[in-house]
Amino acid sequence: MEVLDQTLSKVLEARENRARLRKNIARSGFDSVSLTLNIPGYPKNNKLLSAFFSEVLKDLLIFLQANRIFINTDKKLQLMDDAGAFFIVPLQKNDLSDILEIKRKTEQFEKNHKLGRLTDVDVFDKNANPVSSGKEKPCYFCGEHSAVSCMRNERHSYEEIREKIFKDIANFLNEKYRDKQISKICSLAQRAVLYEVSLSKKPGLVCFEDQGAHKDMNFFTFLNSTAALAPYFREFCELGYQHQGSLKKVLPKIREIGLRAEDSMFSATDQINTHKGIIFLFGISLFAISKILSEKNTFSEEYFQVIIKIIGENLVDDELGNLKNTQTHGERVYLKYGIEGAGIRNEIEKGMPTVFQTAVPFFSQNLYPDLYKDQEKLQEVLLTGLLKIISVNNDTNILYRSDLKVLHKIKNEAARSVSDDKAREDLLKYCREKNISPGGSADLLAVSLLVHFINTEKNEF
Ligand SMILES: [Zn+2]
Repeated sequence: MEVLDQTLSKVLEARENRARLRKNIARSGFDSVSLTLNIPGYPKNNKLLSAFFSEVLKDLLIFLQANRIFINTDKKLQLMDDAGAFFIVPLQKNDLSDILEIKRKTEQFEKNHKLGRLTDVDVFDKNANPVSSGKEKPCYFCGEHSAVSCMRNERHSYEEIREKIFKDIANFLNEKYRDKQISKICSLAQRAVLYEVSLSKKPGLVCFEDQGAHKDMNFFTFLNSTAALAPYFREFCELGYQHQGSLKKVLPKIREIGLRAEDSMFSATDQINTHKGIIFLFGISLFAISKILSEKNTFSEEYFQVIIKIIGENLVDDELGNLKNTQTHGERVYLKYGIEGAGIRNEIEKGMPTVFQTAVPFFSQNLYPDLYKDQEKLQEVLLTGLLKIISVNNDTNILYRSDLKVLHKIKNEAARSVSDDKAREDLLKYCREKNISPGGSADLLAVSLLVHFINTEKNEF
């Protein structure tokens, strides 16, 4: 009993302190708005409640700004004590003329926010009196009666209410963190694809100034296609967060999303294939990145490769080993050249060696986060990365349009071009004249950039 008395007196003390803070604001002539959590029983603060409070506070501040309820952020106060978390801020002159109208708005926040019933957004006038609209809040636990009625009649035990509250909060936070992580992954994926297409002077490939070896597409075809892919990037990520069970069975699910992404790509580009390779590589990569983040909250290159290898196990043999009716470019090239023509499937089966042994180590040494501020240097780093990829990649796009001799020549020329400007010019000219485009290497550049960006920002997730 003594312990409970002590706790109660500490809570009362904390509440008196809050009343004092409200009066101070009123004394300087301002209305105020405050946020507290409505948590029955004790303790009123712990790690989970603290994380929840900080998320709800962010949501409330955005809500106030969106509703043009202006606050004096310089004078805001936030504390955590025995009564729980507390935030208070003076109101400035507002678009809403009436303080009661402001109160009604904040009631909308409590009503519409997913866990708004656990929050108290109170508005106080210039006399530090609470502004009330007279509405009663429903009970959090049953939703049938008012909160006050259930409390007075002791309809539910503190234990059962608290259990439900903590479960709901944990789910709320998990969902919120998940959505934030997915948004971040998707924006980095879009950045990777945009960087690849924006790179100038790529041998044989489309850029803003040059259509390379492609007569049927230009820079804007790629912009249309990139924009069309955005919603599907999100779906790949969501699959990665949701997936349970064996990774060996996930490829058809990734492909389902991929096929819908292809449809969308073809309709945005007037039936031109701009990003089929990217869709396949990004589908598997975004799935893997999301799976890792959902489990570990940070990214790991090693774990990424483990997942890719499991998904891609026997991919070449399974899908190219018993070809009867060859249809796609990739299938025809494999039939003619065997493993050297196994392309993207071989790259995935081996855990993306070109990405992890060639491109990512180079970018981690050279592609600094603020390099984008110097366009020329960024272009130089991206182009060098691409040339390094071309120099090791058995690009099936090259093989499809030519043969092994040309592939080996281009690989050697690309290796020389890394440090030789003249060789670079020659390679560009050669690809244009021979109508050759290392599109598979461009796809690997984009996926390498994705991995690099995720790596660079892995502590921000
Ligand atoms: Zn109730």
